[in-house]
Amino acid sequence: MRNTGAGVRWWWIGGAVISLTGAVLLARQAIDEQRALFETDARIVHRLLSQQVVQHDAILDTLALLQPGPEAPGATPPEQRLPALYPHILSVQRRDRGGDWPDPALAGAETASRQHQRPALATVELGSGRYRLVLAAEPTAYALGIDLRAMVPWAEWPMKPETSPVRVRLDHAGQSFTLQPGDPTALNTGRGWRFEFHKHLAAQSQPFDVVASRQMGWHELPWGRMLAWLAAVALVLTALAQWQGQRAARRRAEELLRLGQVARLNTLGELAAGMAHELNQPLTAVLANTQAAQRLLADEPPELDTARTAMAQATAQARRAADVVGRLRRAVERPDVQGGVLAVDLAEAVRRALYLLEPECQRRSVVPQLQAVDMVTVAADPVALDQIVHNLLMNALQALEGVDVNARRLSLSVSRADGQGELIVTDSGPGLAPEVLPRLFEPFFSTRAGGLGLGLSLCETLASGMGGSLTATNGPQGGAEFRLRLPLKDAE
Ligand code: ADP
Repeated sequence: MRNTGAGVRWWWIGGAVISLTGAVLLARQAIDEQRALFETDARIVHRLLSQQVVQHDAILDTLALLQPGPEAPGATPPEQRLPALYPHILSVQRRDRGGDWPDPALAGAETASRQHQRPALATVELGSGRYRLVLAAEPTAYALGIDLRAMVPWAEWPMKPETSPVRVRLDHAGQSFTLQPGDPTALNTGRGWRFEFHKHLAAQSQPFDVVASRQMGWHELPWGRMLAWLAAVALVLTALAQWQGQRAARRRAEELLRLGQVARLNTLGELAAGMAHELNQPLTAVLANTQAAQRLLADEPPELDTARTAMAQATAQARRAADVVGRLRRAVERPDVQGGVLAVDLAEAVRRALYLLEPECQRRSVVPQLQAVDMVTVAADPVALDQIVHNLLMNALQALEGVDVNARRLSLSVSRADGQGELIVTDSGPGLAPEVLPRLFEPFFSTRAGGLGLGLSLCETLASGMGGSLTATNGPQGGAEFRLRLPLKDAE
């Protein structure tokens, strides 16, 4: 009884909290690892692309610095060899002194370049991955046509572009060019965790935004490790619960054994009291009869002396026997309450007994109901009190065996009544028959096959030994109702 239900509940709640916390921590760790990996890759991508675009500035600067020398007619201008050297340079255009750009966009970009003193973007077609970059210079200005896809140094790329779940784009003024598609299905679901990286390329002339994104799905969590953790916690908890259960069972068995030993000792005393009670009457009768015989023999004497001597001896023996029995009865009639009187919480004693009898209750499908007011502290010998409650409960459980399982009720109430502590044990058993009631507390009175009939008489003796009482009636619903009263502890 003693809170085992609540105990089990706490085991489960504790177990669930530990399992979930551990699983969440494992998941968090995996997510953090993936995020760190993603950020490292994104940073590498940003650095590689920045290095590439900075190179375009350097090429334009070099061209502007060198300016074209005198060229042989029909010869290929040297800057036209650049596309062969750099695969991402698609074309090189130039505007010579006094000349015009073939395209007004290039003229506009040259103006901007002159203004900002650095190369400027001309046409940007991110859709097809191309743009042009112009550097204003005199007498000859140059423009580079650049292919973004060819610009990516795939050899140094930190991810496998075909299989990596990371999407990499370059954004500029509402246009976007995808360098690496990533896992578009994952990116669109929105389920799981999203990692994002935004940073401008490290070249003011080509302010493209590097955008990397990755959607980590639930399926990427370390389910194996998480399940292993849950299994390990469940295993440890089951082992602990089993160990705890065994410990409780062992303690209960020890307690029952102790109670059994005390009961046996007290029962012996009760047995002696019963024997004394039973033997004293016949012995008294023997005494009276032999005395009568003695008188008769005196009236009609064939062998008077012998008979008289024999009868006198018989009388003496019978007297001695009666004396012995009388002494024995006096000695055991009121067994002293052995352990001394202490302040005992009555409800706690009842809970203790209920706990010990939990298996007995379960076996009979009985769920005892205890109603207790706060702190009824009685002056009692705890061992004797345990024994009384134990006996009353065992009797009630035995009585309940006689009724249908669904009709079995056992209620206990602890309260104060008439200045005493009171325990009422009510069962829904067959109750006490009118002929049983007056003999209930007699030693050796039993209606049970194999019953000793000493339990209740012992309980009553113990109760009155502690200054209390034990009485029995039939309850309002028909079952038996036992009422134990004990003096309240003075302090109350
Ligand atoms: P035992 O249990 O050995 O018979 P007890 O002194 O404990 O001895 O009980 C004496 C008798 O009192 C029982 O045989 C039974 O007839 C009756 N009795 C005790 N408790 C109850 C009860 N709760 N309901 C009905 N009868 C009871």
